[in-house]
Amino acid sequence: MPTTGLKCDTSGIYRSSCNAKTEIALSKSETFPPCSHCRKAVTWTLVRATTHK
Ligand SMILES: [Zn+2]
Repeated sequence: MPTTGLKCDTSGIYRSSCNAKTEIALSKSETFPPCSHCRKAVTWTLVRATTHK
């Protein structure tokens, strides 16, 4: 699973693994940020992929 600091290779909505369960939209080649709520490095889980056609 992607973590803070890694490059995103699937555009989509991601949810942080921490208690805040922050959701972010990230595009391919962007870098996974820290959690915007607790500002820690977290693991991001893909909720749903978004495709650009
Ligand atoms: Zn958090």
